[in-house]
Amino acid sequence: MANELKPEILNVALKSIDEFAARELPDSLLIELDEKDEFPEEIVRRMSSGDDLGIQLLFVPYEYGGMGGGAFDVYRICERMAAIDLGLATSELATFLGSDPIRVGGTEAQKQKYMSKIAKDGSLFAYGATEPEAGSDLAALKTTAEPVSDNGSVTGYRISGTKQWISNGGVADLFTVLAMAPGGPSWFVVDAGTEGFTHGAHEDKHGIRLSNTAALFLNDVYVDADRLVGGVEGQGLVQAQQVFGYTRLMVAAFGLGAGWSALERAIDYSRKRIQAGGPLSEKAGYTYKLIVPHAVALEASRAAIEETAERIDAGEGSLNVEGAIAKYLASEAGDAAADAAIQAHGGYGYTHDYMVEKIKRDVRITRIYEGTSEIMEMTIARGRWQEHLKSGGDYYHARARALEALHGESPDVGADAAALAHHALAELLERCRLEKLTRNQHVLLRLGALIAQAEGAEALVRRAQRAASKQLHAKAAKGLRPAALAAAGRVYARGAALTVATEAVRWVAGADGGDLGDLEQKLRIAEIHRAQAGLLADLQTVSEALYARRRR
Ligand SMILES: Cc1cc2nc3c(=O)[nH]c(=O)nc-3n(C[C@H](O)[C@H](O)[C@H](O)COP(=O)(O)OP(=O)(O)OC[C@H]3O[C@@H](n4cnc5c(N)ncnc54)[C@H](O)[C@@H]3O)c2cc1C
Repeated sequence: MANELKPEILNVALKSIDEFAARELPDSLLIELDEKDEFPEEIVRRMSSGDDLGIQLLFVPYEYGGMGGGAFDVYRICERMAAIDLGLATSELATFLGSDPIRVGGTEAQKQKYMSKIAKDGSLFAYGATEPEAGSDLAALKTTAEPVSDNGSVTGYRISGTKQWISNGGVADLFTVLAMAPGGPSWFVVDAGTEGFTHGAHEDKHGIRLSNTAALFLNDVYVDADRLVGGVEGQGLVQAQQVFGYTRLMVAAFGLGAGWSALERAIDYSRKRIQAGGPLSEKAGYTYKLIVPHAVALEASRAAIEETAERIDAGEGSLNVEGAIAKYLASEAGDAAADAAIQAHGGYGYTHDYMVEKIKRDVRITRIYEGTSEIMEMTIARGRWQEHLKSGGDYYHARARALEALHGESPDVGADAAALAHHALAELLERCRLEKLTRNQHVLLRLGALIAQAEGAEALVRRAQRAASKQLHAKAAKGLRPAALAAAGRVYARGAALTVATEAVRWVAGADGGDLGDLEQKLRIAEIHRAQAGLLADLQTVSEALYARRRR
């Protein structure tokens, strides 16, 4: 992603999306389509057409006729799309997922051909990786690609197998399909309508019902050899891995956009809903539980997304662990926020007439597709475990020291509490190493969850510090003002430190023969308890800031 959009171009694109949605996608239509379980093909094709909204152009590299948006642009656009409708956003994502193996691993001729098709013709893609028996474990795939040879050279492949849960599966023009060739898993480009290639019915899903999802059936489907992505067999899993940091960022932005959309509706509702003599927005028992912590968690995930996007655009590689942290935090926070938004609407929230009910069903998918939350926990834990070992146990202590230095410069953003979370994490990881606790997979995955929370705290306090010193990324979302962001940083970092320490005790003591020894001192639990001072005041600060904002 060498190119990026200029901030003013990104703003125009975001405005166009908003205007398109205001004109064409009223809530009443989205609710009706959801109830009818209908994929609005005409709308999706117009959104993808250069003659209309042309969202596709934003993502396609400049040299292939697009506008060359970078990771940061993609995050902002995906967030905005998801705030409108996650099913429609998913349909767009499928085109980018589908073309990503070509973008990262295709030959120049393949890139020219297929990326230009997206840019010029608005072609819809689908990404066919998952199979009935190969989901999280893609290496278990059974779809095969048998070479067809002529005079000793491979001229084509015959592909057979079944793909499951494929977004745009029933409507796409082009498909990238992962199949086992003699040289290993490989991507192939298959046209819709090729002989032997059919799809199943539109799946009747819990949410994102505006997105078409279908199984694919490949029965001896012939493709020419130039349909093998990259021209070399066996690159498929590597190509899929190469785009994960980036595509998981897209799904993270979906969780963020949908979660905020639900929460904004709850905020609006609580301003008007009078109970026990006053609006719900003035009741701490309501806002401190149903609104503020969710806004804070969503902003922590935003901080993780923005840092990751900025680093991907700076050329730091695919950042798979950071992408996994961003996806995990945002999808879990988005789902929890949407659930709280139903609660915040009381009985009304439980009906189909209110968008929060639909958003809750929609956002649930972000915890499943592009790698489930459990797979994210595993990816995060394994990645950071290696760092812990390589650094002789100093990895998180070092990051904590950097946070302490930050606290010295900006004492009010919560960096001291985030540092406590990191020190505790370092101690927990070391204890797990000494007692070989990660042999129990549950402990390993719990580490992934704690690492995500602690790094989310670090990202949020850094974002608060950058906001205070007017050094946010030029295309950063403008939401909470610096003082409120600092309060949010303190709230989240305190929570992270407390959770890491409490869970550390839980799993170490809970292990067979677990003896805490001096762990509680090493975790600095008493200090973490004292760091909770001021929590209620900070919840109030964030609450006031949320209710003082004008809506976008
Ligand atoms: C609406 C929708 C759209 C989708 N779109 C696409 C698409 O366009 N293209 C595509 O290729 N795929 C798509 N998918 C598939 C999606 O990515 C997979 O469903 C997902 O990766 C999980 O795979 P699975 O469903 O086989 O579940 P499994 O892998 O069988 O997982 C089941 C449960 O077990 C857990 N689990 C799995 N492995 C482990 C492990 N080793 N240790 C501990 N726990 C584990 C999982 O976290 C999960 O909770 C879509 C799915 C849905 C529902």
